[in-house]
Amino acid sequence: MARVSFQTLPGTRDLLPPASDRMRALVQAFAAEAEQAGFGQIVPPMFEDLGVFTRLGEATDVVKKELYAFEDMGGRKQALRPEFTASVCRAYAQHRPLTPWKTWYAGPAFRQEKPQKGRYRQFDQVGAEVIGSHDPDLDVELIALAWRFYQRVGLTNITLLLNTLGDKAERPAYLAALQDHFNANLDSLSEKSRETLAINPLRVLDSKRPPDQPLIEAAPKILDFLSEDAAKAFERVKAGLDTLGVAYEVAPRLVRGLDYYTRTTFEFVGSGLDAAQNAVGGGGRYDGLVADLGGPDEPGVGFALGVDRTLLALDAEDAFPAADCQPQVFLVCTTGGFEAMVASDELRRAGLRVDRSFDHRSMKAQMKAANRSNAQVAVIIGPDEAENGTVSIRPLDDRPQFSTGRSEMTEKVKEQFLS
Ligand code: AMP
Repeated sequence: MARVSFQTLPGTRDLLPPASDRMRALVQAFAAEAEQAGFGQIVPPMFEDLGVFTRLGEATDVVKKELYAFEDMGGRKQALRPEFTASVCRAYAQHRPLTPWKTWYAGPAFRQEKPQKGRYRQFDQVGAEVIGSHDPDLDVELIALAWRFYQRVGLTNITLLLNTLGDKAERPAYLAALQDHFNANLDSLSEKSRETLAINPLRVLDSKRPPDQPLIEAAPKILDFLSEDAAKAFERVKAGLDTLGVAYEVAPRLVRGLDYYTRTTFEFVGSGLDAAQNAVGGGGRYDGLVADLGGPDEPGVGFALGVDRTLLALDAEDAFPAADCQPQVFLVCTTGGFEAMVASDELRRAGLRVDRSFDHRSMKAQMKAANRSNAQVAVIIGPDEAENGTVSIRPLDDRPQFSTGRSEMTEKVKEQFLS
């Protein structure tokens, strides 16, 4: 048979140490922040009934073009999740937990996008959602959670863009105004945006295509169409952010990529990233999505942050170095017996990170491996040590090597890490 060799598919990557360690640490930082704010974790399945995601809106690229949809062997239509909000709403409708239901998540999402730096077909998100309350203070609570997370990991070059999309009731008048505005200037609109206009004029505002920008700039603003209630809620959100000292810019044309948003929408933009991939996270209210998924008419609000893009933004600031997950101790043993196995087990039980050699290699080869491992200490057991009931401890810097009784090994090795 011909020899084959496989590589990762376009838009997918292997994360190896230290990148994988760094990503895990970022997710842990988010988990800590979310749990401090009273959010519990949800781990939904990675694939759902196709209908769960098509409810996100037919004009949404994520649904129209990018969904990994397939049938199982029984012909049941399903799809890999392109995001988590729909699964959270489906889970709420299914389990009916007490409200307000505050939940956070972390994991991969899948979209058939054109791959480029910061845009992948499998990418990771962390996020948080609250179902069951209209209180705009929850919008603030969520934004503040994301903000504290960014501060915790040391990301500073980001801007919070804030908008409201009003309620469904005022939407028709605004959509009509947008439609009139764009129809009057169809010639200056890109072909793609003309297609979008026919499906949902609101989404034209999300176009990043340069030729569309002057027309988008001149478009009517939702802020002039808001109901009294929606306007009041928006004022409360802004006042709350002011009170907490969270800086924001009101961005009247921010509509975001998914169709389900009402009232507050927001996006975190990294200034160190290219414009096409500068959104590190975003979210908003989706009053109506739970009902669309067969649940009670409960409102929701939430956000998702792109883990990969947050890491790229941190790179640009030289922040959040990878956690040190390399071995601290390397065991060198030439006896051919069980000494290395038993000693590494003992040191690991004592909480140290320990690696060792295999394949009965020579002392010289094992010492080379010890140096390459970046461990700080080598523990050496040769035939002499084994016979005398001792071990040699060799710090892999310029401190001197010494010998100690085998029964004192763990204590003496630990002492090496106290200074
Ligand atoms: P969205 O669900 O589209 O609002 O996306 C939330 C966040 O996920 C974005 O702000 C990005 O940081 C990240 N994201 C979305 N799509 C991708 C992708 N294809 N590759 C990497 N990150 C992505």
